[in-house]
Amino acid sequence: MRLLLFALDDVDRVFDHRDVAEWPPGSLTTAERLGLVRSASGGLTAACPHCEDRHVEIVAKRAGPDGHDRLWIYCPEDLRVEVTPEMCRGWQVHPQGSAAAVASALSFTATPVAIVPDRLWRLGRIPWQGKTREILLARRLQDSDAASVAAHVGAGGRSVVLVPHHVPDDRTWPGRVPATISLSRIASIADGQFVLDGAALLSMVTEADEVAEQRSLLPTDPEVKKRIVRQQVKAEIKGHLQDDVLVAARKTFGSTRKAAAELTKQLGRPVSKDQVQRAIDRSGGLEALIDQDDSGSVDRRVASQSRDRAKKISQRR
Ligand SMILES: [Zn+2]
Repeated sequence: MRLLLFALDDVDRVFDHRDVAEWPPGSLTTAERLGLVRSASGGLTAACPHCEDRHVEIVAKRAGPDGHDRLWIYCPEDLRVEVTPEMCRGWQVHPQGSAAAVASALSFTATPVAIVPDRLWRLGRIPWQGKTREILLARRLQDSDAASVAAHVGAGGRSVVLVPHHVPDDRTWPGRVPATISLSRIASIADGQFVLDGAALLSMVTEADEVAEQRSLLPTDPEVKKRIVRQQVKAEIKGHLQDDVLVAARKTFGSTRKAAAELTKQLGRPVSKDQVQRAIDRSGGLEALIDQDDSGSVDRRVASQSRDRAKKISQRR
């Protein structure tokens, strides 16, 4: 099982007749029946039965002395080595069939939907604390293009991603890291069936959620998450200078350049004259502001906003 899962995380791994001869009796038939492996596609090749390194060569067909066709491969040691048709067969993991086997082990009846062909499948949803969570299967997430596959999972961190063996680096994911569970820890073949240890899966997902929770400011619960996002957005808006402060500064200091310089000095962070100008434009332009005369309040307002920010920063710390 582990060997097949490792191969599922690999590219074009082919098992030849000598590999499968070392597998437990009957396991190849079982794996084929469960859809986990299939005959290797591609040209007729065979591994050299004589050499230690088992070099793989293209098979040539030639008539033997008796007139019947024989199969040969070229060998640098023995020049020409005869192989049997059985030796020319290879098996490889069947990604779509494996996805179907995983889905059926989770009691999903629908055929897995490939989101990224041969790489990512949507298997179904499981009930989770009164709601549901999507289960996906992804393979080869250690490859250099893994981020483009992971991008289809979504940034919410609610999904459960099953991988054959290799759990990718957290940076592979676009947003919050989803619970990523290695099948090599929970999959087995029992009584000729592909099975997953459901209890182990649930506890691993819970554990992964806890780890993600600790690492992230955003909890998994969508309602709590929305509330925290709103709070963050509000804090962010407060952090920006309000238009009335910018406009008042312009009136007090006589030009956008001087207003920007003075605000920069008082707030201890850069404020550009463009920012001041945009605030004036939003307030209806300089003409509209001339009649109003409340310039005296600017120093107090700037100073108090500066103090508020200092307080907020110390609270965050
Ligand atoms: Zn050889």
